[in-house]
Parts: sequence; C-alpha cells; structure tokens
Amino acid sequence: KASFDVEAVRRDFPILSEQVNGKPLVYLDNGASTHKPLAVMEAMDGYYRHMHSNVHRGSHTLGDRATMAFEGARETVRRFLNAGSTREIIWTRGTTEAINVVANGLAPRLRPGDEILVSHMEHHSNIVPWQMVAERTGAKVVPVQVTPEGELDLDSFNSLLGERTRILAITHVSNVLGTVNPVAALIEQARARGVITVLDGAQAVPHFKPDVQALGCDFYAFSSHKLFGPTGIGVLYGREQLLEEMPPFQGGGEMIERVSFERTTWSTLPYKFEAGTPAIAEAVGLAAAIDYLDRLDRRAMEAAENALLVRANELVATVPGMSVIGTAVRKMPVMSFKIEGLHPSDIGTLLDQQGIAVRTGHHCAMPLMDFYGVPGTARASFAFYNTLEEVDTLFAALQKIQRLFA
Ligand code: PMP
Repeated sequence: KASFDVEAVRRDFPILSEQVNGKPLVYLDNGASTHKPLAVMEAMDGYYRHMHSNVHRGSHTLGDRATMAFEGARETVRRFLNAGSTREIIWTRGTTEAINVVANGLAPRLRPGDEILVSHMEHHSNIVPWQMVAERTGAKVVPVQVTPEGELDLDSFNSLLGERTRILAITHVSNVLGTVNPVAALIEQARARGVITVLDGAQAVPHFKPDVQALGCDFYAFSSHKLFGPTGIGVLYGREQLLEEMPPFQGGGEMIERVSFERTTWSTLPYKFEAGTPAIAEAVGLAAAIDYLDRLDRRAMEAAENALLVRANELVATVPGMSVIGTAVRKMPVMSFKIEGLHPSDIGTLLDQQGIAVRTGHHCAMPLMDFYGVPGTARASFAFYNTLEEVDTLFAALQKIQRLFA
C-alpha cells in the first residue's frame, strides 16, 4: 500500500467537487454526517439492479441473492468490530436506535435506586434513552464530571462507580470535544464490579477501528452515515449472553420463531431484535464503505487526520479572540470553538457564504454546553478526505470574519 494520497481519495467522493455559493465546497461537518465514496453508491445501485428482493424468504433466486448480500454485510461488520459472532451484530436505524434497544433490553434488570453512570459529555442519544428507562424503573442517571480541558474526570468516575451502579454508558469519542475516552480502563473497572458496559461509538468509527473483544465492552453502537455509508442503518454489537437474556425491542415479522394466539416465541439471534423488513440496500452500502476503508492505508490515514488537527491548532492564534473548547491530550480531529464578539450561528452563516460547512449550536449535548456556560459552539470536524489547504481556507475565512464582524 502506498502512503496516503488525499487527492486520489477525494476523487472517490463526487460531492467534494461541488460548488457552494460560488466557491469550492470545504466540508468540515463530518461529525454530523460524512460523505459517501462512489464504491458505496455503486454497491447500492448494483444491489437494486441485480439482487433486490425481501430477505430470509428463501423461495426464489433473487431472495437468495438479497439474503447473501445482507448477511454478507453483517459478516463485514463483525470483522470491522472484531466481534466473535454475527449473532452479536444487530442492525438498527442508527446509534440512537441501538442505544434504545439496549436501554429497553436492560430495563428488566433495574430496580429503584439502581444507578446508570453516563458522562457529562454525552450526546443526547446516550442520555435520554436512559432517562426514559430510569423513569420506568426508578433507577437514576448519574453523570461523571468532565474537566475544563474536556477530559473525563477520573476522580469523579472513581467516586461515582459504586454499589448501586448497574450500567456504565459512555461515549468512546466526544462529538463536541473530540476527546478519546480511556474506555478500556473504565470498562475493566466496571466489569470487575459486574457493571454492564455500553459504548457509544458514533464518533469513534469514522477515525479508527474499535475492537470490541479487546475493549471488553458488553455493547457498542454506531451509525453507518458517520462511517461513509448510507443513512438509515446502524449497528448494535452486543455480547451474546446478554442479548439472549434481553427482551426484544419491537414485535412483528422476522423476529419470531412461532406465533399463535396462545403463545409466541422469539427467533434466534440476531433476528430477535430485527422486526420487519430491514434496510437491505443500506446494509450492502455500509459493507461497501467498510471494504473501501479497508483498502486505504489505515496508519497513513490516521496520521493525515491528525496532521489536520495539528495545523488547525497552530492557526488558532491567528484569529484574535478565538478559543477552543476541548483540549484533551488524546483527541480526534474535531475543533469546537468560539470567537469573542461573534455568535456561533453567525460564524456558521458567514462561513457558508464562503463555501465552508461547519456545524453550529448545542451539538445535541446541552449538559456539556451548560458546563462550559455557552449556548453553543461552532465546530469544524474533519475526515480523512480533508486537506491541509482546506484547514488554511477555514482560518483565512475566520480571520476575515473576525476582522469585519467581531
Ligand atoms: N452519539 C454521538 C456521539 C453522536 O455524535 C451522534 C450523532 N451526532 C449520535 C450518538 C447519534 O447518532 P444518530 O443520529 O446517527 O443515531
């Protein structure tokens, strides 16, 4: 494999050649959703042209092709996560639904006063499902504090992991701060106390490959659309024994073994959690995205992404009044920032006029915004297809905006 050739990679992503407001698109909103390589579009197109039918019906050739493609995609995801078995790979609509499946499935284990440990830097999708389950069961959602730098406060973690802790649900990488949490160590401590561990991998998978067996987690959730695959599908990895013990999330076709009005029994894993006709073409598209990433040089790609963050950090000082929120030692290429005298949403609008896409607002992490005492931030989030020139373009635009409007 050659070293990382970003210009070659960019040619695989047609949308990156788009013009926006008369300017070449500079897409720095990868934390919200990533773009798709041609390989993904072609795989989905090929699926619809040559294979589409419903899956698991087995009565004709197209049905067999669709089932092969769909179950092959599950195996691709299993390999990506290094899970032990495809029985542990559940298709969901995304990270949000995956966490809801787990929260609902673990509810029968919770008693009044039990504690679900989350962190102050969680996305709402790793807070609200737990609050809903807490409401039903009398359990409590307890947040681990973060430090001003945006790292998990380990003293807070150590003092809160206690007798009543039943579940630890924590993000692998923060969507606002970019912080990579020391999850393997946290999981080890939690498991030693019999605590069930759930990782939100939505912002980790676009940057590195998680190994669920090495991490030792019980559950791992991610979304395809943040991993260069299509929208509408995501993955829940779950430890087989726990999945066996959990009730299904939804009822319907596909998830049953036998139905009668006297008694209905559930299908085997993973189908027990997959009621109804699944997102078949999307599963094929996600597998194509993973295969595409596997053809790239991972180490070179990770180094190139880090170089983007290093360059961005160097340029912060060139914009008067600019400050970064989230300066963890281990962080992914995500930069949340504010500029004195400018509202984040105005920064977003002014950058868009220059063809530069960033996200502004609370990033579905209101408790974290409250912690920093800001209504929101502007956030530039990078992917491997971004260039150093694009980082320079962002900062040139920020300098201009600061000069004219702050
Ligand atoms: N967790 C994190 C850390 C995220 O960044 C996101 C998406 N912004 C989600 C969960 C939710 O993902 P989805 O909307 O695809 O379900």
